[in-house]
Amino acid sequence: MALHLYNTKTRSIEEFSPLNAPTVTMYACGPTVYDFTHIGHMRKYIGDDILRRTLALLGYEIKHVMNITDVGHLTNDSDEGDDKFEKKAKLEDKSVWDIANFYTDYFHKSMQAVNILPPTIESKATEHIPQMIALVEKLFEKGFAYETDQAIYFDVSKDLAYGALSGQKISDKEVAVRDDVVIDPNKRNPADFSLWFKRVGKFADHTMYWQSPWGDGFPGWHIECSAMSMAYLGETIDIHTGGIDHIPVHHENEIAQSECATGHEFVHFWVHHDFLLVDGVKMSKSLQNFYNLDDILARNINPLALRLMFMQTSYRKPLNFTWDGLEVAHTQFKKVQKFASHQDTIGTINESYLAGFKDALSDDINTAKAIALLWELVNDMTLADPDKWATLLAFDEVFGFDLKNTPKFSITKEAQQLVIERDNARAAKDFATSDKLRAVLEALGYDVSDTPEGTRLS
Ligand SMILES: [Zn+2]
Repeated sequence: MALHLYNTKTRSIEEFSPLNAPTVTMYACGPTVYDFTHIGHMRKYIGDDILRRTLALLGYEIKHVMNITDVGHLTNDSDEGDDKFEKKAKLEDKSVWDIANFYTDYFHKSMQAVNILPPTIESKATEHIPQMIALVEKLFEKGFAYETDQAIYFDVSKDLAYGALSGQKISDKEVAVRDDVVIDPNKRNPADFSLWFKRVGKFADHTMYWQSPWGDGFPGWHIECSAMSMAYLGETIDIHTGGIDHIPVHHENEIAQSECATGHEFVHFWVHHDFLLVDGVKMSKSLQNFYNLDDILARNINPLALRLMFMQTSYRKPLNFTWDGLEVAHTQFKKVQKFASHQDTIGTINESYLAGFKDALSDDINTAKAIALLWELVNDMTLADPDKWATLLAFDEVFGFDLKNTPKFSITKEAQQLVIERDNARAAKDFATSDKLRAVLEALGYDVSDTPEGTRLS
């Protein structure tokens, strides 16, 4: 079965075929690095990773670009409020550059902990300002941009296709005006969005700024993604990913500015990941339920269990995170590791299982079905089975559990001695000693079972 993916643009599941097979160009909206990466973010990046690994399993070569937004993202996605970096820098009494570096490192650490493949190219917004300025100039030339004394805006009324992705009309777009928000009186339409902010007014003290044809300033958030996507992947790409919260503003704006600048389709397939809820509610500052990598490690849970947990729900459905749920996933994960720890020889892949696995993933990345195949394959956790091991390693190219690096099961000399003592105790019906030795073996990390041949460790 060919890969089928849900395309937000057409609101239907379509057969995927890249523009220049076997290459697939994929742009993933990356983090805004002004705060800790949390498990909600991790769901999105694990989702991207599964998609990318699936494409590789199906024989495609992936060119995957992800941005790091380290400037220009205001506290409201629709250009209102303060710059997230300037605000955080003041709060933590650090420079904006230190803020960006610190949280970029934390992001990388979080990605590595859940074995996410690094993108082919990771691009920082602050290192691509000339490309952004060039794109804004192009929009000026074509009559889609205008200047006020505060900013350069994209004029949505000039773009007849504006709003197609989310199905919103411009007139439906409400602008939430808060008291602390300074609205530019010269902005023509509330839905117009900033391509470039000038270092004036509320941004007069902005510490991150660059020279431009319109004076010193900094880019708008949306233009960053368009400029970097085009710089590395060309004017039309196969897949663009993001969270569903990006559909109505960020991605709508990316499409508008890109397609008006080039005159071509910007993205062939839009893939959006649904939200992660925590204990049934949205994550929020006041509830302090933004759990991150450190919270997982503090509970002695292997972060890779998150992958298993997330894969049991479709990426297109909301997922409810609970610590109990993650504990269950961790127990399941340890079972898979247990199987892996007992394998040494790699046999022959079971082609019918692998075909079933590819079919499951080709069905709009049906990871739950793929996980069900895993349990069918691995039922006896302590049996060495070279063919199943080969098949599981093929599955793991997508699961990303890093099973090939699972420490191998071995019985130490000390444990072998304890087994002999315990078998002797049992033969002598000295069950008190036998139980005591069982406890000692369990403390060493072994599972102890009694068989007709005596004590068996796994
Ligand atoms: Zn983006």
